[in-house]
Amino acid sequence: MIFPPLMYEHDTIVAPATAAGIGAVAILRLSGPQAEAIARRIWRPARAAMIRPRHLYLGEIRDPAQECAIDQALAAFMPGPNSLTGEDVAELHCHGGPYIVRRVLAITLELGARLAQPGEFSRRAFLNGRLDLTAAEAIADLVAARSDGALAQALAQLNGALRNRVSGLRSQLIAVRAHLEAEIDFSDEDIALPSRQSLAQAVTRLRNDIALLHDSFARGRMARSGARAAILGRPNVGKSSVLNMLLGVDRAIVTPVPGTTRDVIEDTLTLAPYALVLQDTAGLRHGADQVEQIGIERALAQAASSDLVIAVFDGAAPLEADDERVIGLCRGRAGVALLNKRDLPARTSPAHLRAHGLELPVITISALRGEGAAEVREGLRAAIANISGAGGGEEEVAISRERHRQALARAGAALHDAECGLLAGMPPEIVAVDVTAAADALGSLSGEIGSEDVLDAIFREFCIGK
Ligand code: GDP
Repeated sequence: MIFPPLMYEHDTIVAPATAAGIGAVAILRLSGPQAEAIARRIWRPARAAMIRPRHLYLGEIRDPAQECAIDQALAAFMPGPNSLTGEDVAELHCHGGPYIVRRVLAITLELGARLAQPGEFSRRAFLNGRLDLTAAEAIADLVAARSDGALAQALAQLNGALRNRVSGLRSQLIAVRAHLEAEIDFSDEDIALPSRQSLAQAVTRLRNDIALLHDSFARGRMARSGARAAILGRPNVGKSSVLNMLLGVDRAIVTPVPGTTRDVIEDTLTLAPYALVLQDTAGLRHGADQVEQIGIERALAQAASSDLVIAVFDGAAPLEADDERVIGLCRGRAGVALLNKRDLPARTSPAHLRAHGLELPVITISALRGEGAAEVREGLRAAIANISGAGGGEEEVAISRERHRQALARAGAALHDAECGLLAGMPPEIVAVDVTAAADALGSLSGEIGSEDVLDAIFREFCIGK
């Protein structure tokens, strides 16, 4: 289905645009054909003046049924199509009290507005051609950002970095298809058309560009949601103490009884410009009881899906078989190893760990005394920088969602078929089908081509009022 940039004629929706709770201001937003009429029935300007679009005016909100004043409020009217949603929009800037918001909201509902669904304002904006899907997603990412890296990534996407990159690739694909169509239409005539070889080269180039963008996913996802690190180690080496040291709070419960961290605890550390989601996992130990075993299995799964590992070893004890298991889990992984309890006499050294096959850089610390925290942060920052740079190579733009990755994977697979078809001398009609499939996959990324299901999935993530 292709979405035309037509007006999305519908009812009038209303929702608070500001968060629930007490604040200086609470904004109620209406969008739809009745937005201005409903707002003007409950809001009267303080002075009789011409109300100009996109200007704020002071006035009073009254309940038309009970003829009583409710609040002193500012109002602004934004007629479509040059508004947030592309429809007529009205905003009431009330005082930020939850009761005021409930009262004003209730009156607008009585006057015929409908409470907006989550993400409905943004969905209408998309359907009316005010923003593309990547920009809508970028707004959600901006709001959810937890690091400078996440902000920069969301802002670049909002400004069209991803949309422009994808639409550039799509235009080139459409040009290839035009050449193929010319081959179909003018095959009997004496017209100079690009050779099969040069078309195949163009397709290969495009497939490489799409693969580069596809491979930027790890980098983009880490910028958007933070890198994930699993803290690994046998019980009692000091994993919870390391987590507390890094977070600077008693987030995990530290006890001298082995096996007390039974579930996975998560928290976020800011290592500018990155966010690092730390996961303290159950101590890895053989012969654990059943509850603990579940925790251990979860820990192993977390470790496998994390971007980095933080492997903790007890420097005041000799290495045990369970430590060797941890070393095994670290093989081929990015991260840091921490040799803890340096305040006690050393029984294990970094050389010992390396002799047992540990490849990660080792930092000697005392989590109890908070010694070595800066080095650990630096080590983690370097590890994230390393893996962030690894994906996407020279590609500047990064994709950050599974949806983007899948669309690019579909485009890449279709182009692979097109390339094979061109080299095997298949008829241009057949190759054109694959090129069209690739172009459509790219179109689905920005929303030029899509389905209601995709829109539902995207806008469901938004809150009411967005
Ligand atoms: P976990 O089971 O790996 O999460 O270990 P904990 O963080 O619960 O620590 C186990 C025990 O080791 C606790 O009694 C901590 O106080 C102690 N501990 C942790 N780090 C250090 C350290 O750097 N030095 C010393 N002396 N004890 C520590």
